[in-house]
Amino acid sequence: MSKEKLLGKSPEELKSIVLSLGLPAFTASQLASWMYRKRVRSFEQMSDISKKGRELLAENYEIGLSDPLEVFTSRDGTRKYLFEVQGGAIEAVMIPDEERKTLCVSSQVGCKMGCKFCMTGRQGFHGNLSVADILNQYLSIEESQELTNTVFMGMGEPLDNYEAVSGAIRVLISDWGFGWSPKRITLSTIGLIPGLKRYLDESRCHLAVSLHNPFPEERFNFMPIEKAYDIRDVLDLIRRYDFSGQRRVSFEYTMFADWNDDLRHAAALARLLKGLECRVNLIRFHKIPDFPYDCAPAEKMIAFRDYLSEKGITCTIRASKGEDIFAACGLLAGKHNS
Ligand code: SF4
Repeated sequence: MSKEKLLGKSPEELKSIVLSLGLPAFTASQLASWMYRKRVRSFEQMSDISKKGRELLAENYEIGLSDPLEVFTSRDGTRKYLFEVQGGAIEAVMIPDEERKTLCVSSQVGCKMGCKFCMTGRQGFHGNLSVADILNQYLSIEESQELTNTVFMGMGEPLDNYEAVSGAIRVLISDWGFGWSPKRITLSTIGLIPGLKRYLDESRCHLAVSLHNPFPEERFNFMPIEKAYDIRDVLDLIRRYDFSGQRRVSFEYTMFADWNDDLRHAAALARLLKGLECRVNLIRFHKIPDFPYDCAPAEKMIAFRDYLSEKGITCTIRASKGEDIFAACGLLAGKHNS
């Protein structure tokens, strides 16, 4: 039987564990410091905990770390890490960009949401990641100590696994954890309203919404979630929060030829976002097998961007990274692609 994992636990939670093992209460803060700050990989290395304490911990618990199965490095420096988890395999992608190193993490094995253009969605759902599984993506990669930012934008819909995702964010932003500012963290969702409300109430991290089409009846054709949560209701909820200061909201808009790329869409999108302080990221669609759509032509993407910019909406065409190792948006499938 596998042992309980300690990764993700707060010093308070660790305290009841060490007390139950008959160890001094201060062992809890030592443990947190070794796991989250010094990032050691075994109890053995926790040199200021007594030998007996380390043995007791190792007999009853595990830290929850596991090495990647494989690492793929792109020509542009992007690195994709493949991890084995219960239910299958997941991927985390490290994206370097000048001074920044952003880690795109997965939150589920596969996904229930069934977006037609997404390789992860094609796989179906094989399970939620635990807090430890999510944190392991930060702790078991070569760039662990160099990461500057993170996005919950890998495999899965993070708000469909809210408890584990918020548990991981708690470690990222706590002084006893990684000590990151919430400004370094962005969660991307297709718009699950109940989880979104909790996220906006309970955290100060940034938000990205995968919008892709401003017309509900068209959006539904590619994104079944639209039936449960109308994108207009998602926007109504977002408008109740303040995005004029430190916290930011952005909208992801993947561009498909002849589906969402003409100025009729740009005009509807501008109306939908009117008055909201936000940014729109236009993303090139990466063709996937058995899906009949191509990426929108470059001139249409430029016209779309210019239209939104004229309407006062900050809009950029996002450079794509890691295409050659299948690490770009919508291509994560948790398997060997090379
Ligand atoms: S786009 Fe996101 S929410 Fe939709 S199927 Fe893919 S992983 Fe799930």
